[in-house]
Amino acid sequence: MNQIRRIGIMGGTFNPIHQGHLILAEQAREYCELDEVLFVPSGNSYMKDSDEILDGKTRISMTALAIEDNPFFALSSMEVEREGATYTCETIRELIGTQPRAEYYFILGADALFSIESWKEPEEIFKSCILVAAARDSQDTFSLTEKAMELQTKYQARIVILPERKIDISSTEIRSRIRKGKSVRYMMPEKVFHYITGKKLYSGG
Ligand code: NAP
Repeated sequence: MNQIRRIGIMGGTFNPIHQGHLILAEQAREYCELDEVLFVPSGNSYMKDSDEILDGKTRISMTALAIEDNPFFALSSMEVEREGATYTCETIRELIGTQPRAEYYFILGADALFSIESWKEPEEIFKSCILVAAARDSQDTFSLTEKAMELQTKYQARIVILPERKIDISSTEIRSRIRKGKSVRYMMPEKVFHYITGKKLYSGG
């Protein structure tokens, strides 16, 4: 029998990738019984101030190093290679084009779920994949559940809320610590740490 493949999409700026991203992806893989999680570093040009964002090639290299030991994790450079702005709806469309029979799960944190309606073609995202949202604490779970119900009613969105898990690491904090000369060791996989220190990334010098 041909089982439908379940593919997780872990989109992110990954500037840089860290243990929070990896734990979230692994938690989603296990909880939703995903066959694979595809990491998709974003292009440089959507809503954020791109000054602080390292080029796509460097973020791809860091992501590749971070996931290389996990046989369930894979990397896509499709957003970095795309000309112009990169939008999640286009990424999902492209993926469906390559594997139309798969079931897609878009993995995201609380902040992203709260802003998703302002993204391009949110209806398309809700229609074409199941959202897997991470709660960082009980307050998050409460507000995420409310938001999920709102999106279900408004768009028939399918949303899975992961059990709470607080991983108090962010890319912003990592960049700030590096600028101040503080240690970021163990906040990311060892190989990524050595890549960043070897190339003196984010040190502002
Ligand atoms: P990011 O900062 O690299 O984070 C990637 C994801 O990991 C986010 O959903 C984030 O949740 C989550 N995360 C980070 N640290 C975490 C931690 N310690 N514990 C639990 N979760 C954690 O990437 P981003 O800039 O938010 O972008 C996320 C995705 O949204 C990308 O694929 C981007 O292309 C997409 N996006 C699309 C549009 C559009 O199509 N118009 C607009 C904006 C973003 P939080 O959100 O809670 O930080």
